[in-house]
Amino acid sequence: MSRPTEILIDLDALKHNCRIAQSLAPNSKTVAVIKADAYGHGAIDIAQALQSQVAMFAVSSIEEAMELRMAGIRIPILLLEGCFSQQELECAVIQGFDVVMHNREQVDMLAQLQQQKGLTVWLKVDTGMHRLGFNESDVASVFDDLSASQSVNQIVLMTHLSVADEVKNIATQEQLGIFNRCVKQIQQISSQPVTVSIANSAAVQAWPNSHGDWNRPGIMLYGLSPFAEPKDLIEPLQPVMTLTSKVIALRQIQAQQSVGYGNTWTAKRASTIATIAVGYGDGYPRNAKSGTPVLVNGQRAQLCGRVSMDMITVDVTDLENVEIGSSVELWGKNLNANEVAKYADTIGYELVTRMPKRLSRRIGQSD
Ligand SMILES: *Cc1c(COP(=O)(O)O)cnc(C)c1O
Repeated sequence: MSRPTEILIDLDALKHNCRIAQSLAPNSKTVAVIKADAYGHGAIDIAQALQSQVAMFAVSSIEEAMELRMAGIRIPILLLEGCFSQQELECAVIQGFDVVMHNREQVDMLAQLQQQKGLTVWLKVDTGMHRLGFNESDVASVFDDLSASQSVNQIVLMTHLSVADEVKNIATQEQLGIFNRCVKQIQQISSQPVTVSIANSAAVQAWPNSHGDWNRPGIMLYGLSPFAEPKDLIEPLQPVMTLTSKVIALRQIQAQQSVGYGNTWTAKRASTIATIAVGYGDGYPRNAKSGTPVLVNGQRAQLCGRVSMDMITVDVTDLENVEIGSSVELWGKNLNANEVAKYADTIGYELVTRMPKRLSRRIGQSD
């Protein structure tokens, strides 16, 4: 057998999750966020699967957007950080990409554009994230400048929420309050109805008052909850990525013997240790602690000892029928990536997004 480590991508689960996002916000259009190679799931496959179901895609950069266009994706694409240079803006206009504008420099680039028309600008308001966007006090004048530009055809007002995943945190209400004041200001000076976009996955699920003309779900499309405490939905999200491997060695060790680099885990009893062909070179987090759950033959077992580059070791003493070749799930359908992430002091977002190139990816469903 060849090295058995791979990720399975379940496109039916993806479509199911997208339908959930859409049913939670029936009056909003969906901008599916597929930045960072669709959170590590493979942007082209994800885009091809979703393009008939959503109105638009959002990515971080023009390179990511071009990759989709080259693959034949024809629906609109939004650049979430906008353009980093004049040249990129020219390219975005030619390609028909929508661009976020979050600072003065980007707005000023419009003046030098070679009189091209038809650009849709997403004017970003900083309502409390303090990362990107214009302050409330500057929004009206920026809107005026954008409206005056020959190149700009349409303006969408947007913001991003910083704590939408904390369902009781009033900071979200404050952000929405600031944003709504901006919308009111713009309504007074705009000749067209103002279209707005606020909600990420957490807001789609927990903040119905944030639903706008366009919602921007990301993580929920991939079947992961953005919340620390999973929220009950009428239908649960289904994880799209499953990381699997196999047992490649089995051994018996005695009490007091240690396992792995640094001898950080020592058996308290005579134990059976399974070695699995997955390590941090495959995106499995190196700082996952001993005790991290791993499914072997569908049964829960615990990681023991340090994660190596190509292998992990798992205590399977209490499991039955484990043999070389037994299947292993690191996260996915039957073991939520968010649960594994907690043992590595991170979030499911990071685990799935940083999958390395060497892993083979396969479209399909796990058992
Ligand atoms: C990444 C991103 C999203 C999607 O966030 P999720 O939490 O994955 O739903 C939405 N809007 C912006 C501006 C983003 O950068």
